[in-house]
Amino acid sequence: MTLAQLLVVQAHDSAIDRLRHQRTVLPEFQALADCDEERAHIETQRGEAAERRHALGREQKRHEDDVALIEERRNKENERLYSGTVTAHKDLQAIQAELDVLAERQEGIEDQVLELMEAIEPVDAELADFDAKLAEVAARRATVAQSLADSEATIDAQIEAETAARADAIVDVEAPLVAEYERCRADLGGVGIARLNQKTCEGCHLQLSAVDYDRVRKEPSDAVLHCPECERILVRD
Ligand SMILES: [Zn+2]
Repeated sequence: MTLAQLLVVQAHDSAIDRLRHQRTVLPEFQALADCDEERAHIETQRGEAAERRHALGREQKRHEDDVALIEERRNKENERLYSGTVTAHKDLQAIQAELDVLAERQEGIEDQVLELMEAIEPVDAELADFDAKLAEVAARRATVAQSLADSEATIDAQIEAETAARADAIVDVEAPLVAEYERCRADLGGVGIARLNQKTCEGCHLQLSAVDYDRVRKEPSDAVLHCPECERILVRD
């Protein structure tokens, strides 16, 4: 009776093993890895765009600093022109000529700034596009993570139920027999006990020889026998 009871224990143990394995191969794990890979790919592309944007911004800043310096010089020259301290016609003409050169240079640089701003515009759009994609991947990942948590919780509940049922089933089995079962289970890929169905061991699916079968048949019904092929504990009908 306790041997048959051990078969019930084995069924629960096998179910728990299956559930534990199932928990490690949930499709969500692959989906999460895919999301992470996608995010890394987008981040790399975004990083490249951000570098281009940064370089353009630096150039724009450099030109704007140049413009500020030129404006400063123009203000000074203008002050000199109208201060009254310079009176010689020739000197005034020289100042005016300098002012014209500065104005022309400033205009040239400002044109470059405009060109840079035009070049920056599509890069900014690109960055915004990458940010939107990253947000989309993050949202998708959060959904998958939630689904993973749900799947894990479902399996954990099943494992808990199987574990409770196993505890109920094992309660009447003698301790030495449990130890023997555990030893066989550990050595034989999780299956320590099997039914002998007519002459076939349901653990290894091999048929006992006529001699072995005859020997097994003659043993008392409560004797603990092992399959001569796979070593599993045999449960006779
Ligand atoms: Zn066997």
